[in-house]
Amino acid sequence: MTNEIIFYTQLSSIVLFVCTLFFLYRVLVSQKDATIQLLKEKNSFIERQLVEASKFSPDALAKSLSDRVRLLNEEIVRLAKDKENNQEKINNKEKELDEIRKEGEELSRKISKAHELMQEFFCPTCGEAMAERGYESESVDYQGQELDVEHEYVLYKCGLMVVDGEEIRECAGLGARP
Ligand SMILES: [Zn+2]
Repeated sequence: MTNEIIFYTQLSSIVLFVCTLFFLYRVLVSQKDATIQLLKEKNSFIERQLVEASKFSPDALAKSLSDRVRLLNEEIVRLAKDKENNQEKINNKEKELDEIRKEGEELSRKISKAHELMQEFFCPTCGEAMAERGYESESVDYQGQELDVEHEYVLYKCGLMVVDGEEIRECAGLGARP
């Protein structure tokens, strides 16, 4: 009975993880097409993350995880019938279950990271894609010397413009502030 309770607790955390993964993956896929070109040009690190994330289709991942969990469950139940002689094996199976969860969490972390890194490519208000990003240098006079100061500007399709992290023109897209 105790084993079953432990198992179901672990199972529900795995199910929760898979649901989270599904959600993140969907968001990622829906945003991927619009930005893949941009990502390729601008940030090979994100590209690597995306490629890695896309290897794990949620269906395949969920199936592989649930298959392994199901097999382990059957084994644990079987071993639990002769608990005294099988305690060590049961412990090993529980360790395996723990490994699966860690593996899942690692994948989830990678997908979250890719998702997080992609955030800046979309308007935080309406979700429109970034249209342009660049740098402009400005000459400033500092104690009689001419210095070049670089400003980063980001322009989104909805009109939002951000310079050096500061919003200088508001989003005019759907869902924009009234
Ligand atoms: Zn916007």
